[in-house]
Amino acid sequence: MTPLAVSATDLHRSFDGREVLAGIDLTLRQGEFLALLGRSGSGKSTLLRAMAGLDPEFTGRLLVPERRSVVFQDHRLQPWKRVLDNVVLGLPRAGARAAGLTALEEVGLTDHARAWPVTLSGGEAQRAALARALVRDPQLLLLDEPFGALDALTRLRMHGLLRELCARHRPAVLLVTHDVDEAIALADRIIVLTDGRLGRPHQAVRGSAELRTELLAELGV
Ligand code: ADP
Ligand code: MG
Repeated sequence: MTPLAVSATDLHRSFDGREVLAGIDLTLRQGEFLALLGRSGSGKSTLLRAMAGLDPEFTGRLLVPERRSVVFQDHRLQPWKRVLDNVVLGLPRAGARAAGLTALEEVGLTDHARAWPVTLSGGEAQRAALARALVRDPQLLLLDEPFGALDALTRLRMHGLLRELCARHRPAVLLVTHDVDEAIALADRIIVLTDGRLGRPHQAVRGSAELRTELLAELGV
C-alpha cells in the first residue's frame, strides 16, 4: 500500500464561537489526487489553510509532509519581481535559477521568465504560480480554487497541464473547488464538505453523469 502523505484526525476550528471544521478525519496517500468539494463558506479554505501550516489555531491531530506548496485562486506573485525571481523566491541560490527555468519550461512560460507579473494573463499567472510550487518539489500540493478566476477555455487548458504535471511529479494533491466537473475531471477521489463535516468519499469516474448528479445532490444544488 502506498504510504500516507496526510493524516488528519478530528480536526476542529471555530471562529467567534462558530464551529467551521466540526471533526475532520482525512487521509491522503502519496501520489493521490483528492478533490474537496463544497459550497462557498463550507470550510474548504479553512481546512486547506490548516494543512498548509497557515493556521496555528485548529485542534486535532494533523500529520503533513515537510515540503508542501499552496496555489491560491489569486496568483500571489510579487509585482516588483520578475516571473523567474518570483518562482525561485526564498530558494537557496545555488541551482535555483536553473531549477526555476526548468519549472517555467514545464508550464510553458520560458518566454516570460523575465516578464513582470502584471504583464501576464490570468492563465499565465497561474502557470507561474504552479511553477513556483513545483520548483519546491512538494510532497503535498494544496490548490485552493486555483482556476476559479479563469475563463472556461483557459481553465480546461490548465486542467490538462495540471494532469500532466501531477503524472510526472506525483505529489499528493488536495484540490479545493466548488466545481463538480473540475473535481471529476482531475481527481482520483472526491469528498464533499458540508457544514464542516466530510461526506463519504467517491472514486472519481471521468465523465460519469451519475457521479455528477450524486455530487450535485450532496452539494444541495
Ligand atoms: P470556503 O473556502 O469553503 O468558501 P472558508 O473556509 O473560507 O470557506 O470559510 C468558512 C467559514 O469560516 C465562513 O463562514 C467564513 O466566514 C469563516 N471564516 C473563515 N476564516 C475566518 C476568519 N479568519 N475569521 C472569521 N471567520 C472566518
Ligand atoms: Mg475558499
